Amino acid sequence: MVHRTPLIGLLFAVVVACGSGDEKSARTPDAAVNDRLPFGETRAQIDTDRLSEIVKALASDEFGGRAPGTPGGRKTVQYLVERFGELGLEPGGEDGSWVQNVPMIRTQIQSPAKMAFNVGGEARALHQKTDIEVSTVRPLEAISIDAPVVFVGFGAHAPERDWDDYGDIDLRNKVALFLVNDPDFAAAADEAVAGRFGNRRMTYYGRWTYKFEEAARRGAAAALVIHETEAAGYGWNVASSSPGENYAVVGSASEAEPVTLQGWLHEDVAAAVLEDAGYSLDELRLRARSPEFEAFELKDVSFSAQLSIAVETFDSSNVLAMLPGKSRPDEVVMISAHWDAYGVGEPDAEGRTVRPGANDDALGIAGVVEVARVLKAGPPLERSVVFGAWTAEESGLLGSKAYTADPVYPLEKTVANLTFDILQTAGPARDVILVGEGQSELEDDLARAAATQGRVVTPENLPENGLFYRADHFSLARKGVPVLLIMGIAGGSDLVEGGREAGDQWIADYVGNCYHQTCDAWDPSWDLRGAAQDIELFRLIVEDLGNSVRWPEWKPGSEFRAIREQSVDARN
Ligand SMILES: [Zn+2]
Repeated sequence: MVHRTPLIGLLFAVVVACGSGDEKSARTPDAAVNDRLPFGETRAQIDTDRLSEIVKALASDEFGGRAPGTPGGRKTVQYLVERFGELGLEPGGEDGSWVQNVPMIRTQIQSPAKMAFNVGGEARALHQKTDIEVSTVRPLEAISIDAPVVFVGFGAHAPERDWDDYGDIDLRNKVALFLVNDPDFAAAADEAVAGRFGNRRMTYYGRWTYKFEEAARRGAAAALVIHETEAAGYGWNVASSSPGENYAVVGSASEAEPVTLQGWLHEDVAAAVLEDAGYSLDELRLRARSPEFEAFELKDVSFSAQLSIAVETFDSSNVLAMLPGKSRPDEVVMISAHWDAYGVGEPDAEGRTVRPGANDDALGIAGVVEVARVLKAGPPLERSVVFGAWTAEESGLLGSKAYTADPVYPLEKTVANLTFDILQTAGPARDVILVGEGQSELEDDLARAAATQGRVVTPENLPENGLFYRADHFSLARKGVPVLLIMGIAGGSDLVEGGREAGDQWIADYVGNCYHQTCDAWDPSWDLRGAAQDIELFRLIVEDLGNSVRWPEWKPGSEFRAIREQSVDARN
């Protein structure tokens, strides 16, 4: 391999980093040395022992799976404040504190949930979880809907792609019925739509979150997405796994009021209802891929729901720490991960109930803390660095969304957000996996930084799953902040031992057995050298951007370029 020589150098450096306490003091960051070294040539300093120690603590039973609104969640916040404090960072939260309060609700639709489609006067009752999965993110005790249904196709309003599914339709107080994914996902190469939405790669228009938001902006009462396994990227079992339950941040005033009811409709039910009404789902799918398609009200079809809802309110917190910039402190480079995990669930075969989220995302949090430690020990940067630990990622990116609805640091002067969400624990790799290829210039930073480690960038292997839209960095992206994500399940790494096959096997084992389960536990046998390489990459990029006057941009064709351009004056 071309990269053999630098890789050996890197391995040596990381092996040193894993050594005894004496070696630890011997490699105390030396500012004078670091000052002389150009970008990418600082010593490897991310410490695998420290990473392991932090994960071991956060994934212990004492933290109870770190669910927001629980004692374990509050303990996690306290733990992180202490870690950042002892590193000598400054409080980076609201009003000089270490935190940002995130007021939340949990809603649960009570059973029996009464719902039906009415076609020409005939009611077809819908059963929650088997036929439909709906929930609400509004603090309502009861929901009563009886409204016409509008088929909106993929529901994309994408001026930059010269595409609009809505035309003149008025969605106010109606039920919007969507197809999942985006218009060219299933298109053949000779169809006019092919390539307009990145082909198989999912664009934001393909995500259910976009569809619910667009329905809300247009005043719809409810939004239903027809589920399809391949186009959604997961089966009905996943789509319906928490029937009737949802979480939301209270009062994000900058967002449109959400639809009253949102969720998935089983594909077979959709096909049957449409057939009763004289339509064919297959034919509608084809029509929706045509650039001429416009949303239309289904003749003689209405949807009704009479529901009662249990609403709980509670508070959680994002943790924020900062290193102030020397000359341009108002320009902020942000690095973050989420502190929450899945709390306590059903006992597994060994009787374990805590889902400790060791890899997802205690390891990412440990990475953020390690970057903070190493940067604090080095020479100060020109720009500020903000370290974020978000709450409630698993409930829908809520902590990061709350942050962007009410940012402590103005988003237009936030240079970039770098996010860790799951890092692989199978050892050093010859490459780093890029999620969201073609989105922003930060992928060029990633490639440059990786090259200094003798590594290359490999694009994620299943871009149609839309992972780029499924972690906290995305909350920043949708407000225009350029982002980079490292997500250990986005594609198998080319591992030094075992190659790509071993990297893929690690993902298969992790996703198949442990992801969101009790077995996502700390393990003393983890090989964290690969995770340390990835964490070091982000440290290099933060350091480089922190001493730069550069504002990385979205690439042409990114759906987030236009919103960033609106604030261009703030950066000139
Ligand atoms: Zn995660």
